[in-house]
Amino acid sequence: MRIPFNVPYYTGKELNYMKEALETRKISGDGTFTRRINEYIEENFGTKKALFVTSGSSALDMAALLIDIKPGDEVIMPSYTFVSTANSVVLRGAKVVFADIDSNTMNINPEDIERKVTKKTKAIFPVHYGGVSCDMDRIMKIGQKYGLRVVEDAAQGVNAKYNGKYLGTIGDIGCYSFHETKNYVCGEGGAILVNKDDSLIERAEIIREKGTNRRKFLLGQIDKYSWVDIGSSYLGSDMLAAFLSAQFESMDEINRMRKNIYEFYYKNLEGLKEMGRIKLPFIPDGCDINYHMFYIVLKSEGERNYLMNRLKENEINAVFHYVPLHLSSMGEGMGYKKGDLPITEEYAGRLLRLPLYANLKEEEQAYIIEKIYDILN
Ligand SMILES: *Cc1c(COP(=O)(O)O)cnc(C)c1O
Repeated sequence: MRIPFNVPYYTGKELNYMKEALETRKISGDGTFTRRINEYIEENFGTKKALFVTSGSSALDMAALLIDIKPGDEVIMPSYTFVSTANSVVLRGAKVVFADIDSNTMNINPEDIERKVTKKTKAIFPVHYGGVSCDMDRIMKIGQKYGLRVVEDAAQGVNAKYNGKYLGTIGDIGCYSFHETKNYVCGEGGAILVNKDDSLIERAEIIREKGTNRRKFLLGQIDKYSWVDIGSSYLGSDMLAAFLSAQFESMDEINRMRKNIYEFYYKNLEGLKEMGRIKLPFIPDGCDINYHMFYIVLKSEGERNYLMNRLKENEINAVFHYVPLHLSSMGEGMGYKKGDLPITEEYAGRLLRLPLYANLKEEEQAYIIEKIYDILN
């Protein structure tokens, strides 16, 4: 048995919708399917404005542009995240300030955020790791207290909730990813959600259209469009929105399939947890998760690497991420060093992600679990 780490799930309707999009002869951005995606997010998740874009990374880059991150500003975020969270800020010439995480959830620790606020702090970028919400009540309070914008990196959090609210709809701005490794996919894609500030909505549409007011022109509100702001080409193709429409229609079904897999792991690995051999994911009160990820935490980095390598020998592709950004060569170039974020450093070394995708079969999962018990005993 050979088990990859991820296999994108297809509902079977993707090609039909892409064919429909082809036949409209409007395959660039903002066609019928793009509108469908935007409206789905606005109506079902509850945000003022959602815009389908080329990737989660683009959504983050747009967010940094929208809230005017500039040289001299500081943005607080976890070091335990994907590079795009940090790149969005670095691309604006601003300073990334890394905060430590809570070892129960791997999410940014609000106390460390508050310790790191300075006069230069402009925003907080919390990342909802594995679709488990950060402590958004406390983060929003810190944001209000110091007058900071909050941009949620909800790339992994699509369709997950915090106290009844969808992730990505709580901060000033939310960013989603539809990359093939996420829950609902179209190859490469993303969305930006503008949740509060009406003045950001029009600007988001301009930035997404290469800094032009083309959107107003298309709506017939002006008779010529021109260059009015900075921006880039962030519109996703309607072909990919068509692909994603199929996935959105099956959102509940995909979520159910992932839930079964998550719960099967949890139930069958509890024995090892009770023996004190591993830690399992912790879901705080008020969090409805989207079963994006299943990970275990071993007792040491050595044990994690041993288990990962032995699983690989058995053709089970379990992986870890991230190399904490503050210890990457970019992070070191910013002056960070080992010892700056102790919890991040320790837990990044001990965490192992297990294969989780909608089509993972129960016998494959049983095989993975059996091997984990064999190797650890
Ligand atoms: C996947 C991911 C991104 C980037 O999304 P893309 O669509 O691949 O650009 C950003 N942040 C986090 C936390 C992610 O997991």
